[in-house]
This record gives sequence, structure tokens and C-alpha cells, in this order.
Amino acid sequence: MELLRPVDYRKLREEIERLKREKNAVILAHYYQRPEVQDVADFVGDSLDLARKAKEVDAEIIVFCGVHFMGETAKLLNPEKKVLMPEPKAGCAMADTATAEAVLRLKEKHPDAWVVSYVNTTAEVKAVSDVCCTSANAAGIIEKVPSKEVIFVPDKGLAYFISKKVKDKRIVPFEGFCPDHYLFTGRMLERLKERHPGAPVGVHPETPPEVQDAADFVGSTSQLLRWATDPALGADEVVIITEIGLKYQMERRNPSRRYVFPTPEEGTGYLFCPQMKSITLEKVYETLREEKNELTLPEGLVERARRPIELMLEWS
Ligand code: SF4
Repeated sequence: MELLRPVDYRKLREEIERLKREKNAVILAHYYQRPEVQDVADFVGDSLDLARKAKEVDAEIIVFCGVHFMGETAKLLNPEKKVLMPEPKAGCAMADTATAEAVLRLKEKHPDAWVVSYVNTTAEVKAVSDVCCTSANAAGIIEKVPSKEVIFVPDKGLAYFISKKVKDKRIVPFEGFCPDHYLFTGRMLERLKERHPGAPVGVHPETPPEVQDAADFVGSTSQLLRWATDPALGADEVVIITEIGLKYQMERRNPSRRYVFPTPEEGTGYLFCPQMKSITLEKVYETLREEKNELTLPEGLVERARRPIELMLEWS
């Protein structure tokens, strides 16, 4: 039996850099990735940043460190490029709650409504949608939709956030949610507030309504990053309710502040996405070295699913 050896991260990073140059590859990583994976990425961002970047990159290979729908978005925008997924089984539990058939059934009941899908959906769901959005641009996109009624798929937390911002549209929410964000409760937030009195609270719109209503700021991953690290906020510590991976970027951007995330030490348990964390530096290295785990999509689907993403990019 082969003995387990400690991983030499420095060597692995050097090898990944060499392979990137040799193969004309770029690594895109979401903010929820492990710190060592974020460190080898050419670009780190949230869903909207990554969709934009995926359209711009000038490389033959994209190694996508994120969950499946994110890799699909990169492929839809770059059908001629090789998109490799270091962990092809990393899916998004929220995206999996919506199927194209369920969206079409809802559409039958609301025939005049536009279908707006969160980018956290499968390519099949995007293909039956009119336009996509991310948590960063959702309200702005929905304001531009020509119909009065909007079917919003799949996140009911984000649907609540939008309905508070956009008053002149009727939002028909789908019943999906993120099991990591939505299971964080108002009671857990109260506990954090008691432990950190006076600290401003920023939360992601995938959290439930009671958590959003008790926060000082509700924003997407990139908006939370900007808000929490802004020196003008004038606080020694901030409480942040989103996936723990974002803490690494916050500490890099403004190390003079303390970022309190849900953890067992705080009495709340972690808020973390196991699918995002299943991508390791070793998997990134092997995927790039062997050019394996290529993501492919049927041609007819690419055309139909790309249209709502391109409309989103045009409108945002
Ligand atoms: S944190 Fe939630 S919404 Fe984000 S990828 Fe994980 S399961 Fe999906």
C-alpha cells in the first residue's frame, strides 16, 4: 500500500504555473474556493464576474474551479474552448431544485410573464428562460424586463430580496433555495449580534427573509466584499453571513478589520458549501496535466441556453 505523503503545495503551484504557460490555459475560481485554489487562479470572482471573464479570456483551455453550472456558463459563452472541471461531480444543490419541465409548467399558469433565471441553474433551465441574472444584478435586470409579472427561478431568498427592491413587478417565485445559506436562521443571527454588539451585519440575499430583514446590508458576494472591506465603514469588526470562503479575500483586501463568519466557535456551525470545497489543488493540477474532465454540451442546447446569458451581459 502506498503511504500518504504530505502535499508539497509550493511544488504543486509551480507545476500548475508551468502547465498554464505550456498549454495556454487560464484558471478561473469562485470566491468560495479553498484559499490555495484561489491563489493559483488567474481570476477570482463571483458568478457575474466569472461569466464576464469567461467571455473575455484569450486562452485555449479554461480550468473552472467552481460548481457545474458555472462551468456550463463558461462553456456556453466559449463553445470553441476546452472547459475543464477539476471536480465534475461538484454540483449546486440550489440549481438542482429546478428542472426545465417545472419551469414550463409554471409558465403555462403565467403565460405573459417573462422567465428570469438566476445564473445558478442548469443549461436546460436557461434554455427555457428569457434572461438570466446574478445576485449582483438581479434587481436591475428585472427592472428592464418588459412584462409586469416575472417568474423568478429558482431561489426564493433572492426572489424576496428582489420583491423588496422592485415594487412595480409581481414576482412569482420558484420554491428553490440554497441549503447552505437558507438554513441560517434569525435566531443564529441574534446570537452573533449578542456576541459582537455594534458590529455591522452584511448578509447574502440567498439567506431567508428574517435574516435579510435584520441585516444592515444585503448584497451579492462581490458587493459584500466591497462593503465589508471599505475603510469608510469605520468598524473594527463586521458580521458576514455567507459562505466562509469569502473570508480569505476580505482578509487580503483589508487585514485591519475582523470578519466574523458563522463557525462552531460562534455557536452557529459553519456556513459552507461542500460542493465548492470538493475542489482541491491536487485535482486542479491533475485536471490540467491530463486535460481531463472536459465539459461538453449538446449543440442545440448551447444556442438556446446562451441567449439569456448574453442578454443579461448586454443589460448589466
Ligand atoms: S453555496 Fe449554495 S448556491 Fe452556492 S454553489 Fe453552494 S449550494 Fe449552490
